[in-house]
Amino acid sequence: MKAAAYTLERPTALAALNARLADGGWGVKPIAGGQSLGAMLNLRLAQPETLLDLDTLDELRAVHETPEAVRFGAMVTHAQIEDGKVPDPTRGLMPCVARGIAYRAVRNRGTLGGSLCHADPAADWVSTMPLLGATCLLAGPDGAREVPAADFVVSAFETALGEGELLTAVQVPRRSNATRWAYRKFCRKTGEFANALAACLLDPADGTERVVLGALDGAPRVVEESGLFARLASGAERARWLEEQALGLDDARQSMLAEMLRLALRDLETAR
Ligand SMILES: Cc1cc2nc3c(=O)[nH]c(=O)nc-3n(C[C@H](O)[C@H](O)[C@H](O)COP(=O)(O)OP(=O)(O)OC[C@H]3O[C@@H](n4cnc5c(N)ncnc54)[C@H](O)[C@@H]3O)c2cc1C
Repeated sequence: MKAAAYTLERPTALAALNARLADGGWGVKPIAGGQSLGAMLNLRLAQPETLLDLDTLDELRAVHETPEAVRFGAMVTHAQIEDGKVPDPTRGLMPCVARGIAYRAVRNRGTLGGSLCHADPAADWVSTMPLLGATCLLAGPDGAREVPAADFVVSAFETALGEGELLTAVQVPRRSNATRWAYRKFCRKTGEFANALAACLLDPADGTERVVLGALDGAPRVVEESGLFARLASGAERARWLEEQALGLDDARQSMLAEMLRLALRDLETAR
């Protein structure tokens, strides 16, 4: 099948893009790397009247550093993160995650912002950004606003973006040198989306102890609690804790997730 007819517009300023998005309502859609939207168009699951190409806007590629955080423009690609072409505030977590997304051709085009906005529950940044305590920066008809990454994906393929809103950047806090992390996803072959995903972040500098369970039916589950990793060290306690999360998974997916969590916790223990 081929895409239904649409008009492609290439705005040259963010303000013009925002105005166009606000005017056009849901009939106007931004296109970033096109790695997910391209397929949706060809299958006619999306039939926008107009596509707004984000590729022309340098502002959306910009990266700003402060002592506390790095702000990544929404159009930063997976490959730029993988290759270290942008700063890494996460002690290697972001490049590691980027390297495991699909294969190189997809990573060359696919973007951080596009991945979050597509909101596939199995996508890597959808779990990683809440793990990192990142913030999504949005611009829309009523101005700019910020949404914690943990609240940005609302459910499968649904985000906090309102009509006419654009994700402009993602701000990731800098982690201390003592930070340890672990990231495990189960997929049958390289380049596939995850069937189960568990990730951990421990930063003694500010006491962060966070676990994210991803590739669920909806948004990832983010759990932050002091003493969490001590509690999850025991296999029996971990099984109980996972049950308590009431994720509604069938037995096979629940056991894949349990195994990813076990491996992530083991990696965390040995991480430097
Ligand atoms: C074969 C294959 C395997 C893949 N495997 C993985 C994988 O293992 N892990 C993984 O995480 N991903 C995977 N992906 C998805 C890939 O990471 C895509 O890059 C990503 O999902 C979409 O990014 P994009 O820049 O191409 O966005 P697009 O496809 O251009 O857009 C996706 C959606 O987001 C909207 N959008 C894009 N940017 C913005 C913005 N700034 N503001 C508002 N809305 C916006 C678009 O309107 C569209 O609805 C895979 C893709 C393919 C084709």
